[in-house]
Amino acid sequence: MLPALIGLTATAAATTAGYQSMSPTGQWFGRTFVAGTPGSKQLALTYDDGPNDPHTLNLLDVLAKHSVRATFFMIGRYVQQRPDIARAVAQAGHVVANHTFTHPLLIFESETQTRKELVDCHQALQDAIGEHSRLFRPPFGGRRPATLRIACELALETVMWNVTGYDWNASPAAVIEKKVDRQVRGGDVILLHDGSHRGLGADRAQTVIATENLIRRYKDEGYDFVSVEEMQMQPSGVIP
Ligand SMILES: [Zn+2]
Repeated sequence: MLPALIGLTATAAATTAGYQSMSPTGQWFGRTFVAGTPGSKQLALTYDDGPNDPHTLNLLDVLAKHSVRATFFMIGRYVQQRPDIARAVAQAGHVVANHTFTHPLLIFESETQTRKELVDCHQALQDAIGEHSRLFRPPFGGRRPATLRIACELALETVMWNVTGYDWNASPAAVIEKKVDRQVRGGDVILLHDGSHRGLGADRAQTVIATENLIRRYKDEGYDFVSVEEMQMQPSGVIP
């Protein structure tokens, strides 16, 4: 192979590897749960970066009003600061899961540090709510083979998403809804945020409004909202 061509191939491979390490749906670095059965009538709402006052609690009100169970990937250090909110989420029947202790990009963390992030978040959740789900979502969706291996060794199952509301900069609810609407095909895991990794107190009022509108719209269309755990257990509901 010509040196120039080798260089080109290596660059293309590196770019693809980089893409795979951040792509929510990429499976190169090991299998992750991304979504349910395509075209099914199930949707899973997932919320990252909480607990966060007051938006997590406002979200609980909306979810309770519509009898919807959701999945919350929490940051351990916030759970330590607001165990009361984490407890409220768990007591409302939602799935509470691991989103690391400090929300680092795990691609750049050592194996020791990665393990510590997962264990410390697990412990914070254990202290706040006791037994909880074994689901784990890597911050920013970033992972490498060692990340998934360590999660697996800790009996954690890595969960990504296939639909995102792009709500991390507090877009208006209508914009969040439109973005979700463009991607939903059925059987989707939808990524939204009830908090922010930048700190407690982020404004997520628009996400709460968007959540209510999305629930109304998709229930009207015959969709069921389930937790990620329920979606994993019942890959049913495929449109005949
Ligand atoms: Zn996050």
